[in-house]
Amino acid sequence: MSLLKTQAVILRSHRWGDADRIVTFFSLQFGKIRGVARGARRLKSRYSGVLEPFGVVELTLFQKTPDSLGTISQIDLVSSCKAIREDLRVMTAAARMVRIVEFITADRDPNHQVYWTLVQSLEMLGPDADLPLTALLFQIHVLGHTGFKPQIEQCTECGKPIGEDPLWFSPRLGGIVCTGCGRNGIGRIILLSKGSAAFMEQARRLPLSCLPRLRAAGRVRIEVTEAVESYFEAVAGKGLPEFEIWASS
Ligand SMILES: [Zn+2]
Repeated sequence: MSLLKTQAVILRSHRWGDADRIVTFFSLQFGKIRGVARGARRLKSRYSGVLEPFGVVELTLFQKTPDSLGTISQIDLVSSCKAIREDLRVMTAAARMVRIVEFITADRDPNHQVYWTLVQSLEMLGPDADLPLTALLFQIHVLGHTGFKPQIEQCTECGKPIGEDPLWFSPRLGGIVCTGCGRNGIGRIILLSKGSAAFMEQARRLPLSCLPRLRAAGRVRIEVTEAVESYFEAVAGKGLPEFEIWASS
């Protein structure tokens, strides 16, 4: 038996049995974990208003064995992120962010950089931001903190430095390939201008607080979006929903 105590972000919750919910968290100390909220769907539940997505909580999870589904024994809101749910476009961007973290992290694999990037990015979301771009920047930045960091300094296949040749991005290899390697049957490749590669590098490298200053328009925006989405799909085995509304059922 063990008690897991940690701060966590609520990624998702779904109905379980007649009266319960199962909540998926990304936690600071333990990475992605799940817990049952007993009686959460009863009218006078002690969980009322606490299990909403994007909320940051202090959580205590009781587990019988390390592999068993835990039971939430204590949960207190640190930040409700209520403002996110008041604007559908903001909520869509936030939903993409929590899905990104959910899809690219393994259970019980903590990553403090991913955790704080998620918490701070959710706090920074607002209706005045360029929301699709904000979600894209978050996606590149978070990938950079995982084993899925895109390789954009040199050819991923042969190591050749990036010269004057056109650049190609291979979603399967997760990086840039030279024209020669791109012809060698490595699957789909996406044309990436120098400006797009530079943008991806900045999004990965700059501190989170500087990301809102980055701008991408026209060709760069289209190319980077396509490269990152395709790569993410190759890594996660599924794409992100274009437009996702949190079902509060
Ligand atoms: Zn090459």
